Amino acid sequence: MEQAIVKVVDLSHRYTMQWAIKNINFELDRCGVVGLLGANGAGKSTTMNIICGVLNQTHGDVYIDGVNMKTDPIKAKSNIGFLPQKPPLYPDLNVKEYLSFCADFHMVDKRKIKSTVERAMDYCGLSHIQKRMIRNLSGGYQQRVGIAQAIVHEPKFVVLDEPTNGLDPNQILEVRRLVKEIAKERTVLLSTHILSEVQATCDQIKMIDAGKMVFSGTMEEFDNYIEPHTILAIFDSALPEEDLRSIEGIIKVEEIRDRHYRLWFDGSPDMTKRVMEKSLQHDWGLLEINFERSSLDTIFAQLSNNTKSKE
Ligand code: ATP
Repeated sequence: MEQAIVKVVDLSHRYTMQWAIKNINFELDRCGVVGLLGANGAGKSTTMNIICGVLNQTHGDVYIDGVNMKTDPIKAKSNIGFLPQKPPLYPDLNVKEYLSFCADFHMVDKRKIKSTVERAMDYCGLSHIQKRMIRNLSGGYQQRVGIAQAIVHEPKFVVLDEPTNGLDPNQILEVRRLVKEIAKERTVLLSTHILSEVQATCDQIKMIDAGKMVFSGTMEEFDNYIEPHTILAIFDSALPEEDLRSIEGIIKVEEIRDRHYRLWFDGSPDMTKRVMEKSLQHDWGLLEINFERSSLDTIFAQLSNNTKSKE
């Protein structure tokens, strides 16, 4: 089997007396976007800073492409691109000058700097503004420059700490598109405290709560885990619960308030269609039907309770 691009073994860190992260273990495959999800203060930045070799851990090991960050940090870091929460931009340089500086800093062969910088600018949609001073760019373009500096040396692994923070909705879509593009050729680890962000961008998800890993799996597994298959249906008059239970695939029915029903179902993909058809056949007057989504708070509570009960 191909070696994981990142391997994190028993990683723990404490700044003062309290552990910021405790016994984190995971491996990452060689391409795709992995979301690191957690509330503020959960331990995302601590984990990312250690993985990138910016912070020395109290305990545990990080391997990048098989190289231990502790014993050979220069080699390990040559395969990492990092965009911290505050992008390390130099406002008085123009885009091309800044990216050339970054390529040099990452020890790209001097003869290749011009072509790698052009490639990174092209990739991130920056070629047309390469002569503009960074301080005059919008937040969205500054973030693209931040992402370009993280890929300019063509690393195999890219770490983005809350890359859409502070951007407007259009800029958020642009950055998400760029992240997906980058992840076609390499692994991207992206941290966020926004559930919809991982749902829109990530293939895999790791969730941290209070310094501990509470979930690790594919986006599909996460969705199934956090969302029991439930539908919320509203009718224009009250219905006997047996009528709703008679629909094939419905497991349980609960009337949550007047004419509002929560329907547990077996995961069939066409469940809403079946409810609509039955309603039309029997003239039940279906007004609204939606899959239910849990709030992030509920999910954190559910996942951290699950972990506590396993301890
Ligand atoms: P955010 O999204 O708010 O950045 P996070 O998930 O990235 O949160 P971390 O910044 O890793 O979380 O913080 C984890 C814990 O470690 C928090 O309790 C935080 O207060 C604490 N912490 C972080 N940095 C330091 C530091 N330099 N000194 C002391 N405690 C710290």
